[in-house]
Amino acid sequence: MTQVEKTIEELREELQEHNYRYYVLDEPSISDYEFDMKLKELQQLEALHPEYADPASPTQRVGGGITKQFNTVAHDYPMYSLDNSYSTEELVEWEARLKRLLGDAPIAFTCELKYDGASINLTYQDGVLLRAVTRGDGVQGDEVTTNVKTIRSIPLRLKGQAPERFDVRGEIILPLEGFAQMNKERLENGEDPYMNPRNTASGSLKLQDSALVAERPLDCLLYGMVGRNLGVNSQMEMLQTMRGWGFKVPETARLCANIGEVLDFLEYWDTHRHELPYETDGVVVKVNSLQQQEELGFTSKSPRWAMAYKFKSEQALTRLNSISYQVGRTGAITPVANLEPVLLAGTVVKRASLHNADQIAKLDVRVGDRVYVEKGGEIIPKITGVELSQRPEGSLAVAYITECPECSTALVRQPGEAQHFCPNDTGCPPQITGRIQHFISRKAMDIEGLGAETVELLFKEGLIGNYADLYTLTPGQLIPLERMAEKSAENLVRGVSESVQVPFERVLFALGIRYVGETVAKKLARAFKNIDALMAAPAEELMQVDEIGQRIAASVTEFFANPVNREVVERLRGYGLQFSLSEAQLQGQTDLLQGQTFVVSGVFETLDRNELKKRIEDNGGKVASSVSSKTTYLVAGANMGPSKRAKAESLGVPILSEAEFLSLLDA
Ligand code: AMP
Ligand code: ZN
Repeated sequence: MTQVEKTIEELREELQEHNYRYYVLDEPSISDYEFDMKLKELQQLEALHPEYADPASPTQRVGGGITKQFNTVAHDYPMYSLDNSYSTEELVEWEARLKRLLGDAPIAFTCELKYDGASINLTYQDGVLLRAVTRGDGVQGDEVTTNVKTIRSIPLRLKGQAPERFDVRGEIILPLEGFAQMNKERLENGEDPYMNPRNTASGSLKLQDSALVAERPLDCLLYGMVGRNLGVNSQMEMLQTMRGWGFKVPETARLCANIGEVLDFLEYWDTHRHELPYETDGVVVKVNSLQQQEELGFTSKSPRWAMAYKFKSEQALTRLNSISYQVGRTGAITPVANLEPVLLAGTVVKRASLHNADQIAKLDVRVGDRVYVEKGGEIIPKITGVELSQRPEGSLAVAYITECPECSTALVRQPGEAQHFCPNDTGCPPQITGRIQHFISRKAMDIEGLGAETVELLFKEGLIGNYADLYTLTPGQLIPLERMAEKSAENLVRGVSESVQVPFERVLFALGIRYVGETVAKKLARAFKNIDALMAAPAEELMQVDEIGQRIAASVTEFFANPVNREVVERLRGYGLQFSLSEAQLQGQTDLLQGQTFVVSGVFETLDRNELKKRIEDNGGKVASSVSSKTTYLVAGANMGPSKRAKAESLGVPILSEAEFLSLLDA
């Protein structure tokens, strides 16, 4: 083994262990920074030494691989569904059936929570994750390995000695906190929020770009395995063994000596499930002994040895007192139900989300109605129905507001959009403060010494009317304000002036252009290199950039067509903010491939796909995802999809090998 190979191996082992400590045990032992540094080091070494590539390397977690089409794969062992029971009586009857089938032997049970996500089957071969397949119809599912590898708590390589080949089963979930954070960001970017964590988790598995999956806070909870020579005799032992190999198996599982203890478990979790960091919709009760399981066997669709118990979804019935309307940064209007306070799942609920006008119409919910409220994945609960038998006489359907509650401007609603908007973006107070708050936020300008409340105060006091005004603030103006000491005034002014160093792509994100989130801002910055080129670009040119569609392009051109926005940009430029990529970022950037569009397909030897795409973009070329008459070249690696080649050939698009592509750049 060479020295380099040894270093690579050591880094991989070390990172794998830290990853395990962080994501499975939740007991990190090094800082995020140290972790990132080691990961970078490994990434660099791997790039220099492709001969030591390893599909189980921790570097695989960052994603980047694209799945154009998810292959259908047959499961080695079918994935059954579970029989459901909705009452404790049904469980007791089930136990009686088991006794008839098993005779006198005592029957112990393992109780586990029923994790509410997307079922997944993970196949391990020689201790390494070979593939991940969705449940599908139980016989065959979709292969989603590239995406699943980005989920940090799933081991790519097992600890200890595992069987040669076996399957592990679990649920891919989105923990509630991560889900709430995703929705917060979506709302900030002017997008509709996701409805619930389960659908979002299963939708994530089908994203084509695994780098996007890597950004989502997905987790995977395991509950079982199938295969030969697993070396375990009971369900409980199985869970324990899986933990030992590095899987995340929740500690909530319990061994119950009889059905009475099972009922205790159900009762406990019926009330305590709302304290969990993820959603659960019930409990799965399994006969603990694998030998008994084998005796019981399966019906055509489910095991006889397991039973799911579904919790009743917790509801409260209360009165809808009024509806108020909130205006977000992008002008999106969100209706909120103000309720007669009611106890639901351990907390007092006063407000519920109504999403949008369509939702109100669909529920036909009216002020004065008694409504059913449920807690889903969202932080605020939602209204799921109306008790029509208690509807007060003479009630009227909700007349959705037509004017902005904050500035009285007539609301608009674009065709195909769920949300109403206040179009008065430059004069509507919550839009103004919302935009400034977005501007200073951590992922944007990250201005130290300035928070959301201070922004509101400064706006109320007439000191700022847009984010450019921040750069004119002086300590003298701030000190007279309430709760503003000399020190904090100076910190604020310093924080603002230091922000002129923030790189272009974050400035672009900070401007708060609708649909231009962090990733889009990065793409635009890299493609156009400076604000002047970006401002001058017509929509068609913007759409040449990978992943920029009509909707984003229209939003960008509209933003820069507005003289008010132009003026603010000019002022910011005057204060010294970064409106072009820095020298360092521009290094290696040329116009060699200007006007040329590339499609990249297959596996490459010296560069990985993302590097290859970056090279194209750095040299002024565009990367597109499918071959069309506009494609200049198709860059083909090994195992390229045959349909792409055929398409390129039929359109007469020249096909380049990796070496031919690289020599284009040498020209
Ligand atoms: P159903 O879809 O209602 O038939 O329920 C079966 C599904 O429940 C399985 O495909 C699993 O993915 C899921 N499930 C969640 N938690 C568990 C658990 N602890 N044990 C077994 N299955 C579970
Ligand atoms: Zn308004």
